[in-house]
Amino acid sequence: MQNSARDLIKRAARDLASSQHAIALTGAGISTESGIPDFRGPSGVWTKDPEAERRAYRSYHRFLEDPAGWWEERLSNPFGMLGDLAKAVPNAGHRALADLENTGILKSVLTQNVDGLHEKAGSRNVLEYHGNLFKLRCVSCHARFSRDEYDLEKLLAERKLPPQCRRCGGLVKTDGVAFGEPIPQDVARRSLEEARRCDLMLICGTSAVVYPFAELPRVARERKVAGSAAVTIVEVNAEPTPLTHERVTDYLIQGKTGEVLPDIVEEVRRLRES
Ligand code: NAD
Repeated sequence: MQNSARDLIKRAARDLASSQHAIALTGAGISTESGIPDFRGPSGVWTKDPEAERRAYRSYHRFLEDPAGWWEERLSNPFGMLGDLAKAVPNAGHRALADLENTGILKSVLTQNVDGLHEKAGSRNVLEYHGNLFKLRCVSCHARFSRDEYDLEKLLAERKLPPQCRRCGGLVKTDGVAFGEPIPQDVARRSLEEARRCDLMLICGTSAVVYPFAELPRVARERKVAGSAAVTIVEVNAEPTPLTHERVTDYLIQGKTGEVLPDIVEEVRRLRES
């Protein structure tokens, strides 16, 4: 690791240790070290296959037009391009954020990831902005169900797909938010509240080009412009992003989240002991 990265890790640890309400924003990059591909990194699914991106943009319309057909495709390939998510385990980056929450420094994790790895790592206050592929959600009343509350294979065999909401009878899909699908209001509202409230935002492993999630750092930054409490925005990413280029972030620690985040946690520990 270069000296400049080490200095920035120490700076991030100091900023975290003196914060009152630190939050983390995460994206697919934090899960690549668990073997789950991202979309836009150098080995990303869409970097390698741009047509897959165009197909993904049609997914929600496809669900609304033909929910039974959409479900049949899902059941033949439950996690789509992300491989076998059920086998993935959290890595050192996920665990570092759970550690920061346990020490009382990190108040919440807002994630774009649909893999459930933050909760598996022990983070408790997780807002899954794009849902969770292990859960189901009613598109009408937003009720969420665990996948095993429905016998999906039986519904397929009996040609009774799509599943119907047990609460309101509405259409049920996976909780993962498809492109073109509105962000569930409860999560969108709570995420916005966190972005408005935080005094430190730690952004980890996201290309920051998917909206409205990518708006959250800008909301926090504009608050400073408006003259309210200052916010420090730190980015940990393999490469610079629009947030780096447009100076939405105060500084970028360039590297892998699975290496940088544990180093930050270690440094925070050292500061607290000294
Ligand atoms: P993205 O693919 O657009 O960007 C990932 C970013 O992380 C890239 O900038 C890449 O350089 C960086 N990166 C990759 N590995 C890294 C590492 N080890 N350490 C630090 N940085 C690393 O991802 P996104 O911004 O989250 O947007 C993609 C969308 O696709 C999201 O909406 C998300 O819901 C979904 N998605 C989720 C998963 C998942 O749940 N694990 C995986 C792929 C895509």
